[in-house]
Amino acid sequence: MNSEDCIFCKIAAGEIPAVKIWENDSAVAFLDIAPVSDGHTLIVSKQHYKTLDECPPEYLAKMLSEVGKIAKAVTEAVDSEGYNFLCNNGRAAGQLVDHLHFHIIPRNQGDGILKGWPSSEYPEGRAEEIAEKIKKNL
Ligand code: AMP
Ligand code: ZN
Repeated sequence: MNSEDCIFCKIAAGEIPAVKIWENDSAVAFLDIAPVSDGHTLIVSKQHYKTLDECPPEYLAKMLSEVGKIAKAVTEAVDSEGYNFLCNNGRAAGQLVDHLHFHIIPRNQGDGILKGWPSSEYPEGRAEEIAEKIKKNL
């Protein structure tokens, strides 16, 4: 069921404009209105799911069936050296629009986008402890 107040539902339904580049039965891709880099693209589900984990696997597979082709077309169009593919889930992770979407962000060496990756180290035994909990949840 689509949400009445959801901007991405409205774009998917063609009720408000977007610069679309691709679509299939499950998803539509369009240029982000506030791009992090030229060609910044969103792949948005046509159905309203809030997060990745809410989306059934068959739907997700259809939604992303051509993601590699789209990413290649985008990066070639802007002549970028690489790209990030990401999905923010939840406010803490930077999700601002509560409707499932994936970002394709063209990247070039030294562009300063997504700068800093605060990596750390697990203390002895912590990785195995977390892995056990994850496996129990699967
Ligand atoms: P997120 O933080 O992952 O929820 O990202 C939401 C993205 O949607 C942001 O990059 C916004 O710039 C983009 N966005 C919001 N409204 C629109 C719109 N009407 N058309 C295109 N992109 C949009
Ligand atoms: Zn929606």
